[in-house]
Amino acid sequence: MLVRTLSPSPDIEALLSSLKGAGFVVVTTFVLYAALRRWVDSLMGARRVAEESEARLASFVATVDDVVFVTDAEQRFVDVMGPATTPEDRWRFIGKRAPEIFGAEVGRTFVELGERAIAGELVELDWSAATMPPLFPVGSVVTSLHLTLTATRAADGTVTGLVGVGRDTSPLREVEAARDRAERHIAYLTDNDPLTGLASRALMERRLSEAIPRTQHEGRAVALHLLNLDHFRDVNGSLGYDAGDELLRAVAARLAQHEGTQDTLSRLSADNFVLAQVGITSHEEARARAEALVRSFDESFAVGGHELRCSASVGVALFPDNALTALGLLRAADAAMHSAKSGRRDKWVCYEPEMSAEVSQRLQLANELRAAVEQDAIDVAYQPIVRAGDGRVIAYEALARWQSPTAGQVPPAVFIPVAERVGLIDDLGRCVRLKAYAWLARAHAEGYTDLQVEVNVSPRHFLRGSISRLVEEAEIAGIEPRHIVLEITESALIDVDGPEVDLMHELTRHGFQIAVDDFGTGYSSLAYLARLPISVVKVAQEFIGRSASDPDAKVNRVVVETAIQMSHRLGYQTIAEGVEDADVVEYLESAGMDAYQGYFFGRPVTPELALEYLHRTGTPAHAADS
Ligand code: C2E
Ligand code: CA
Ligand code: CA
Repeated sequence: MLVRTLSPSPDIEALLSSLKGAGFVVVTTFVLYAALRRWVDSLMGARRVAEESEARLASFVATVDDVVFVTDAEQRFVDVMGPATTPEDRWRFIGKRAPEIFGAEVGRTFVELGERAIAGELVELDWSAATMPPLFPVGSVVTSLHLTLTATRAADGTVTGLVGVGRDTSPLREVEAARDRAERHIAYLTDNDPLTGLASRALMERRLSEAIPRTQHEGRAVALHLLNLDHFRDVNGSLGYDAGDELLRAVAARLAQHEGTQDTLSRLSADNFVLAQVGITSHEEARARAEALVRSFDESFAVGGHELRCSASVGVALFPDNALTALGLLRAADAAMHSAKSGRRDKWVCYEPEMSAEVSQRLQLANELRAAVEQDAIDVAYQPIVRAGDGRVIAYEALARWQSPTAGQVPPAVFIPVAERVGLIDDLGRCVRLKAYAWLARAHAEGYTDLQVEVNVSPRHFLRGSISRLVEEAEIAGIEPRHIVLEITESALIDVDGPEVDLMHELTRHGFQIAVDDFGTGYSSLAYLARLPISVVKVAQEFIGRSASDPDAKVNRVVVETAIQMSHRLGYQTIAEGVEDADVVEYLESAGMDAYQGYFFGRPVTPELALEYLHRTGTPAHAADS
């Protein structure tokens, strides 16, 4: 029979409330005890074995956060076990009966409860410190207990004693347990990257810091491989962040195949992965691993139903050669990785000391550039594009200019790639376009109403497809898109497909013109570009420069002439870039080039000078038309 006393009966209450200073005991599972007891008793029945089992039980109870009390058949306490139970507590109980411990009145009630248990009941009651004083030795955090009192029996059924189990039901314990779980979760998150499940940066640094002295002791070395995906931004930009996440997970899984038992592979941030190769004995081992990491990208990744090709750049730093601390190694590997990125040939590079200086310079440059973009301190220079034949200015190319507070005038060939890398290119491009359009609006207002402006659109930006933004920018300045030519480099157009082509069509539907910039350098063919809605081809400077006289420039002339012929067949306008001499102009004129741009006609100048130049040489559209 099971008696469940959820609110204790008056005599139990009396018992409990008169217990002073005594404490209790928390919980384990009584069933385990009983089962253990029964098993031992039935198996052997021998006292020695029973004693051993008692000891085993005690050690078991001690390992689980719970407490049990045991009496013999005469209700003499045999033991009290639990985490909050001190040896003194135990000696206060052991060998005594309840009246000796709790006093006659409470003791008697206790003995009566014990007798009910011995008679076969499972006696249960809930104790709460809010209404009753503590019973057995319990920690201060225990505010309520669920008590069970039951008889234990030998194999022949005779009662051998009582066992009492107190399960801690304190709300505080629940809060603690919840906090414990939260802490464990936080610890997991601190040590693991939730996206890929790889080690976190914190764990990697910790392991590295542990591995360094160990490997040093063993006379071995550590190679740190820092791997960054190439053009990962474009994946996010064109396929969305889910696809980006999927790619990161796929990359993590692939890299994990190169993680040795002593190694740690982690995702440091975004698309940066680090493999700490621990315990190497030669540089060759590090080189082989770097090569393997790079090679593992030869095979494409399956992402969102697409077969995605992706490459990575790896920087390698060695302990103790390049740095002596985890952080130092990371910095060195980062510098080497950037060097691998900017290099044309090698996809992995080992650290060299000069790289550190480059890194800090690059960081400073990026910070200054960010400030310049935020403060709208990027200037725009304008270079005229003139029509063949009459030399009339038909357009200006807007070129970004930046004066760094520490490095002076920085060429766009330097700061544009920085802006792309650190995510500033959108804002920088917008800055340039807004200024260029406002300037064009001024030129239009002064009568040059069919003048166009050509702006360089970063391929990264373009592929992200913020068309509405491009349209809005023109609207802000009150410029019709037909007066705007978006220059996109040939190399960026080489692998545009599906959605990007649609995007280009949409741009042209809005009236924008699209020019292929630096044509001839991207190894594409006009036949390939013909599927794109382009209308202008700008032949790269390197083919124009010496195209005229130099006998060695035969190839250049072939490029120029082929470009002109094919462009005309496809209905494109041709512009020669980098025209510096009169004889080049003469040659290009004979070859049929439509327009020129270059120092021969004018260098990029300030907006004011560009307007002045128009006044001097240009003919207002309405005058030309009339
Ligand atoms: P690009 O679009 O090919 O620009 C033409 C570059 O050739 C300009 O260099 C211009 O100053 C230079 N140039 C023009 N005529 C001659 C000449 O006769 N001889 C020689 N030797 N050079 C000539 P710049 O201004 O240094 O710009 C370099 C590149 O930076 C540009 O090449 C363009 O790709 C990029 N860039 C400039 N401004 C922007 C911008 O606002 N956004 C983006 N995304 N890229 C930009
Ligand atoms: Ca350009
Ligand atoms: Ca160009």
